[in-house]
Amino acid sequence: MHVLLTNQLIRVSSIVLILILQILIYACSKKDSAEADILILHNGTIWTVNEESPNAEAVAIKDGRFVAVGSDEEVLNLKNANTHTVDLQGHFVVPGFNDNHVHFASAARFLEFNIMKVSSQEEFVERVREVVAKLPEGDWLLGGLWGAYDSWAEGSSGGQNRVPFTPDMSLVEEMTKSNPVFIRKFDNSEFAVNGAAQKALGITPSSPSELPGIEFVFKDGKFNGILRGDVVSPYVRPKIPGNFSHERRLEQTRRALAEIRKYGVTNVSDMSDDEQLEIYRELHEAGELTVRVHFRYMIERWNELAEQDIKIGAGDEWIRLGGLKGHIDGIMGSSSARFFEPYSHDPGNRGRWRRLMVDDEGNFVEGKFLKYMLDADKAGLQLTVHAIGDEANNLILKYLEELNKQNGMRDRRFRLVHAQVIAPDDFKRLGELGVIAEVQPFHLSDDMRWMEERIGHERCKGAYAFKSILDSGATLSFGTDWPGTAAAEYPINPMFGIHAAVNRQTLTGEPESGWFPEEKITIENAIKAYTLNTAYANFEEDIKGSIEVGKLADLAVLSQNLLEISPDDILKTEVLYTIVGGKIVYERGQLTVK
Ligand SMILES: [Zn+2]
Repeated sequence: MHVLLTNQLIRVSSIVLILILQILIYACSKKDSAEADILILHNGTIWTVNEESPNAEAVAIKDGRFVAVGSDEEVLNLKNANTHTVDLQGHFVVPGFNDNHVHFASAARFLEFNIMKVSSQEEFVERVREVVAKLPEGDWLLGGLWGAYDSWAEGSSGGQNRVPFTPDMSLVEEMTKSNPVFIRKFDNSEFAVNGAAQKALGITPSSPSELPGIEFVFKDGKFNGILRGDVVSPYVRPKIPGNFSHERRLEQTRRALAEIRKYGVTNVSDMSDDEQLEIYRELHEAGELTVRVHFRYMIERWNELAEQDIKIGAGDEWIRLGGLKGHIDGIMGSSSARFFEPYSHDPGNRGRWRRLMVDDEGNFVEGKFLKYMLDADKAGLQLTVHAIGDEANNLILKYLEELNKQNGMRDRRFRLVHAQVIAPDDFKRLGELGVIAEVQPFHLSDDMRWMEERIGHERCKGAYAFKSILDSGATLSFGTDWPGTAAAEYPINPMFGIHAAVNRQTLTGEPESGWFPEEKITIENAIKAYTLNTAYANFEEDIKGSIEVGKLADLAVLSQNLLEISPDDILKTEVLYTIVGGKIVYERGQLTVK
């Protein structure tokens, strides 16, 4: 074993490095000596995100935590008989990425099956074949979202105008005999069903349709599997399973964890259902959880948590509770985010308030949402509230002032979720109120193609205005909103968000000097927003978010030095290793070495 760790061998190539790490992991897992092993990573370019000593060359890890951070000389001095060393070959290291906003259960479903970017029947058939091969008999195939990228390319400002894609269900009929297929177009304008689904739903295609509101599409006198109209109607909806089996969800979760590991993400802030929380616990118990989770319930459930005495800080370093999520307005994508003035492209529309803001007739009820906030806050829970339009953001700041007034000042770390469009006068208040702006910068790359058309130039100055948020003194925290909306995928890869914040461009580099370039932030601030600041937003900055002695050993080794490369190359950065709690959970190239 020691033979493998000589410097000579390590220097040969990164493939050798990978092999060594594999053997090392094997060796570590084999060893059952009472004395804990020390793992030393040295010869790296380590950006610690610790302002007091931002640079280091080496770290020593013991029992899942950093026990030394410093120069090669200092750290290698700790070497003893139980030490393993890894030569980082100068590679760039950052704290593990801490994503402030994911919808894990949806992402796990999405990864199992989606045809969002599929543009050919061959690809479609392949996707269906892959997924049904793993499905138990009788299990449904749902989702789909075809057509989302027919008219524009991912994260670009322009259209790709490809030939619109519609799945040909006759091609998958044979392979899906025992699995009902009920999939949809991204905008819900069309649905596709196979024979098994027609049977399970008890629908018989006919023209004209016998089902009110539903149209069966016939081609050459034959039903082609496509439904239009009010498909998710009372006839259909109750017959479609609302959830998958626990086994299937475990499998989906495993796949999603593998995806997360690839991108150096070591912590996510999730808002899934209770079963997902249960699954995290099961996988953690089995030693399979490879990302730490900050888990939020919906705000209306605050008293359930209060009854269980769950407060800020509840849980442990793997699964943290204590946060609540609420929504007050809609989203930009559907022009439902709430603004003071109407949308520029839709003069009758200012967006809408969400359910907890209104009465049964949809009328705004003064103080209704505030009451939830006051009660939940009093119960010692952390509030995180979705606000996108300028009026929504303005109102939530008022509520926050009210919270301070009625419940008293305290370290509540209010998270303003998305904080997309801020009115000019409100930036100052963000700072004064100590708000955490929980933003997902890739939204900017994705939305800029229509932002000005929808809200005009002036209001766009306050949109995704990360520099102004930072300058206000508020805390800027980054994440993704993975997996995105029905119309756009927001990948888990942190480089998409870092690129968006630093360059303010689409994935294809438009516009050349950036969209409202005065709001660009530095790469250092972007990394901090994706690590330490999210740890702070989770009340975990004492154990996560930077590479410091005593903190959990979560880090990512990257293929290039983000501080030195041209910002144009950020998207080319790849993750070489992801380490969580001192364990290497991802190594790039592992498969090709085998
Ligand atoms: Zn979200």
